[in-house]
Amino acid sequence: MIQLSKRLQTVADYITAGNKVADIGSDHALLPVYLIQSTKCPSAIAGELNEGPWQAARKQIANAGLSVKIDARRGNGLAVITPNEVDTITICGMGGVLMSDILEEGLQTGKLEGVKELVLQPNVGEDTVRRWLVQNHWALIDEIIIEEDGKIYEVLHAIRSDEADQHNKQLFSGKHISFPFSESQNETIMFRMGPHLLPKRNNVLLKKWQSEIQKLEYIMTSLQQSTLDSAKAKLEATEQEKNQISEVLKWLFTDKQ
Ligand code: SAM
Repeated sequence: MIQLSKRLQTVADYITAGNKVADIGSDHALLPVYLIQSTKCPSAIAGELNEGPWQAARKQIANAGLSVKIDARRGNGLAVITPNEVDTITICGMGGVLMSDILEEGLQTGKLEGVKELVLQPNVGEDTVRRWLVQNHWALIDEIIIEEDGKIYEVLHAIRSDEADQHNKQLFSGKHISFPFSESQNETIMFRMGPHLLPKRNNVLLKKWQSEIQKLEYIMTSLQQSTLDSAKAKLEATEQEKNQISEVLKWLFTDKQ
């Protein structure tokens, strides 16, 4: 059986057993092949925009002898599926903005009809994905942050639910971890840092945000050297962002231990 990376295995573990899956931006179709070989899922679609990765997916599927159960389709985002064709959509290894655009386009064209579950692994821009989910009434039910080969990844698990708005409202309010910040600050922090990730107080989370602080400090140093008027406002905003992250980390990892 194919051996997945820790990142893709984390995605696979979130998928509900028995679901039909479309993996969008599948590249080598590793995830669909694993899902069928492990008998977790009965069938899968590997969607790919680009010729090279699509050919790689076809080859991988053929080599595994799974061409009957996995369909490699070439196309943009959710254009490769028809409404009510799959239960789960996975999108991994792309930026959060592109991911949200793919989901939005899919929503507008009816391709999300019948889809019950989304498992999303944005490489950057996780906050954009969280906002898309909340705005479109998907309940964000779990998130995980992992490190593999020196890189940090977040995986988001969302489901369709009648109680999605209620669930998300409570979740993004920050009440579940009794944050000492204002209501609007809480929401900004939750979208940025992850409402399920913060209460887990995981070392990878600490590492990610310590590194973000370093990046913001670097930006601040170059802004301090600028003579442009716009640099002053940018500097203030960057400093505010840095201070907010620092305060959250202090609260999570120092004050609470
Ligand atoms: N999902 C795999 C993973 O996580 O290991 C591959 C990630 S790879 C970095 C991103 C893949 O998405 C590329 O193969 C690229 O061709 C594909 N891609 C980019 N934009 C896409 C789109 N709009 N629709 C479908 N596939 C897309």
